Amino acid sequence: MTHRFTFMGTAAGCGVPSFFCDCPACTEARADPRLARGDCGVMVRGEQTLVIDTPPDARHQLIREGIRAVDEILFTHCHFDHIGGLGEYEYLVQLVQKRPMPVFGSAEALAGINAEFHYMDYCLDEHVLAPFETHVFDGVRYTACPVTHAPGTYGYLVETPGTRLFYASDTATLPPETAERVRGCDILAMDATFWKGNWSPNDHHSIQKCIEEGLALDAGTIYLTHMCLHYDEPITYAELTDYLRQYDGRVVAALDGMTLDI
Ligand SMILES: [Zn+2]
Ligand SMILES: [Zn+2]
Ligand SMILES: [Zn+2]
Repeated sequence: MTHRFTFMGTAAGCGVPSFFCDCPACTEARADPRLARGDCGVMVRGEQTLVIDTPPDARHQLIREGIRAVDEILFTHCHFDHIGGLGEYEYLVQLVQKRPMPVFGSAEALAGINAEFHYMDYCLDEHVLAPFETHVFDGVRYTACPVTHAPGTYGYLVETPGTRLFYASDTATLPPETAERVRGCDILAMDATFWKGNWSPNDHHSIQKCIEEGLALDAGTIYLTHMCLHYDEPITYAELTDYLRQYDGRVVAALDGMTLDI
């Protein structure tokens, strides 16, 4: 069966628009809400529903996508923009599902989540994934691939019978073992936090670096995500899509709600 992969949110950190920002990118997103970006997360739906990360915007994202139940959660890492919405799931567990939510991530990520959400330990059924361990759910293989970010951060290689997709929302240049593992993937959805100057080159990519690495990995289609569009220089979505024309459709700026059949 076909699975559907949905970009639930595609922003880094403070979203687009950010409540405190009046740059051209934020102004554009205020004028056209289709261009607004919530914090980063994705969903894979087949017979069941799995999400990767629980960003602070999770509630609005789940309502937008018409989701009534989430069966499992994978975590990339425990920074606020990826876990801040976990509290929304306490109500789902208590009121609807009435069983602890299976959650997966590195030992570091789960330890961080336990510290931040100590009052939710009764709702989480935690499973540590070792580096390069594969978890199979609903006919899809999810392999935890270490990336270059906070300790214990994973990207996930998502494999269906027809598609190899690598999702790495937060990473600088991939570690060699992960790069070899994901080389030639059909779809690469990767960190493209900065436009031009990269303030944290050991933790994130710029848009240019994301494209450069994606092409070097021979990825089929490269989806830019975890974009802030106002670090280091603001760039509007209109300007960005103009810039990406040179790649003839091989590089796409993801939008919230964008869905791919995998
Ligand atoms: Zn992030
Ligand atoms: Zn802005
Ligand atoms: Zn992070």
